[in-house]
Amino acid sequence: MAASTLQRLVRFVPKSNPSKILIGQPADKNVDVGAALRKGQEVAVNVLSGSSVLSPGASTGATEIIDRVLSPLAQSEVGTVRGVGMNYSKHAAEIGAPPPTIPVIFMRPSTCINDPWPAPGIVPRVSQVDESADYEAELAVVIGKTAKNVSEADALDYVLGYTAANDVSSRTQQLNQSQWSFSKSFDGACPLGPTLVLKSLIPDPSKLRIRGIKNGKVHQESGTDDLIFPVPKIVSWLSQSTTLPAGTVIITGTPAGVGIGRKPKDALRHGDEYAVEILPHIGTLTNIFENEKNGFVTKFYQLRDDVPTPTPKPDEILIRIAAAGFCHTDLMVYRGVTQGPLPFTGSHEPAGTIASIGSDVPDTWHVGDRVGVTNFMDPCDNCKGCKWATQVIGALDPRYCDNKTMCGIVSRDGAFAEYMTAWYGAVVHLPNSLSFQQAAPLMCAGASVWHALNQAELQKGQAVAIVGIGGLGVLGIQFAKAKGYRVVAIDNRDVGLKLASEVPSHLKPDLILNFDDPETIRKISGFTDDIGLRAAIVCTGADAASDWAAQRLQPRGVLVAVGIPEQGLRFDPMNLLFKEIVVKGSIHCSMQETRDMIDFVAEHGILSHLTLLTMEEAEDIAAKSEAQAYTGRPVVQVGEQ
Ligand SMILES: [Zn+2]
Ligand SMILES: [Zn+2]
Repeated sequence: MAASTLQRLVRFVPKSNPSKILIGQPADKNVDVGAALRKGQEVAVNVLSGSSVLSPGASTGATEIIDRVLSPLAQSEVGTVRGVGMNYSKHAAEIGAPPPTIPVIFMRPSTCINDPWPAPGIVPRVSQVDESADYEAELAVVIGKTAKNVSEADALDYVLGYTAANDVSSRTQQLNQSQWSFSKSFDGACPLGPTLVLKSLIPDPSKLRIRGIKNGKVHQESGTDDLIFPVPKIVSWLSQSTTLPAGTVIITGTPAGVGIGRKPKDALRHGDEYAVEILPHIGTLTNIFENEKNGFVTKFYQLRDDVPTPTPKPDEILIRIAAAGFCHTDLMVYRGVTQGPLPFTGSHEPAGTIASIGSDVPDTWHVGDRVGVTNFMDPCDNCKGCKWATQVIGALDPRYCDNKTMCGIVSRDGAFAEYMTAWYGAVVHLPNSLSFQQAAPLMCAGASVWHALNQAELQKGQAVAIVGIGGLGVLGIQFAKAKGYRVVAIDNRDVGLKLASEVPSHLKPDLILNFDDPETIRKISGFTDDIGLRAAIVCTGADAASDWAAQRLQPRGVLVAVGIPEQGLRFDPMNLLFKEIVVKGSIHCSMQETRDMIDFVAEHGILSHLTLLTMEEAEDIAAKSEAQAYTGRPVVQVGEQ
């Protein structure tokens, strides 16, 4: 068989020898190799002498039966996978993006390449936690000879052929950032094949029909003539000043009907079968998906029924928990920042009712009172911090004690439990109008950002930026608006920008700006009459945020640092010195500030955006939080509400 008669190639393990990998052409020129194998039919292949579809060699005269079909290219033959995003106009519309005016390109490493059925598709651990794995049926182009700076007219000369791909996506991770490479790089997330159709059989790749079929139901269907950027344009575009070696795989985009665009939303889950069918000639790529078993995402918490109800010491109150919030600090505690012994009960955002009272507790507290508990407890009265507090504040203040305890953080069990004990000095009454669920996040997130705003010492009408809109930021926006400041909310994550826009309408920020938008700096200038912001409350640990915010301040402006950047806080010294910028650290409200905050919240109708969970659902709260799977504050409801 001469090379010129080759039209369809497969790479496979033959029934005759499970240790061999062969290249060949299916004997039946019409057989849909993937579909036939999935149905249990025998597929015969005329074996070629080569060991790669990139140089398939000549006929050996032998015929073999496929035992296991492989992706047409091995991982080692694929330098990179180039992906084209939003290349079907209906798909761009379903994910809420305008049709791109230039090809949107992302890259996948070759470790994404996965074989067709019977190889399983993989649901990555990181997308199992919130069921954010998704399917994308795509036409894949395989480059056959080195391409660089090729014109659209010549582009197809460099194409070896076409096959099917499933551009398996992890939506939470994808939408958390503007760069898609992380979310598209998980091992095995690009099943490919099985049949590579050479371009001699498909002279015009815009005349194919593509379907995505989930568990037997058609979810995606389109002609490839709907591609916004057709194959010659994509190859030419990608080759500009760029070498595309032979073996490069280009996945050309997916038509409408992906899980995230459906109502209700759909996802790829363990046990799902997804087939990508491209006709004529290419046929069907099928995988049955399985959960990746090992990975770093594990259940952080374990629900236990063998923990005794604690007994309050003389200066303690026993609280029956109704709601408990989950905070970024809980994640740090889990990772071992506090080096505390295990097992340990998390959550430092408790709200509930008093169940019993220690003998030395003042009579302001009664069984049945509705209360919240703030973070800091047990001042030792025997350290530098306590000495300072006694001299300067005139009373002990556990926030500054070197030996303090913190419920759910340091040396005290927290609120993911039916009962917890608290030092009475950290307990605060809740008004009846404030629900336990709304009260819980005030105990850390609220108290942190309320104090931070106080640290900024603003006057009514002054402009303040809240940078980083999560549990703290969303409360910070509302506190600042209700206090009469002019408020700019800044984030670079869709989830943060969405939270900022969804606060109660009477407390909406004056501006919501995307950190990554090149116009944002100009807009802040305009908003502040070119003077700059009076203050910025930086609620994020994103490394770039603090100095960026300091650059937006007016002379003598105040930056209040609340987030903890991994790389430390760094500032441009010229900006800091010449503008005499004030940088303040801020940790948490005093008890008087906490009481003021709670009254203020009730008075102004301030609301946290909550995701309410049961105790059972909370076992993987940390993993989901790490995956940024929650919009707003996760709050666990304990017992009867
Ligand atoms: Zn916290
Ligand atoms: Zn102390």
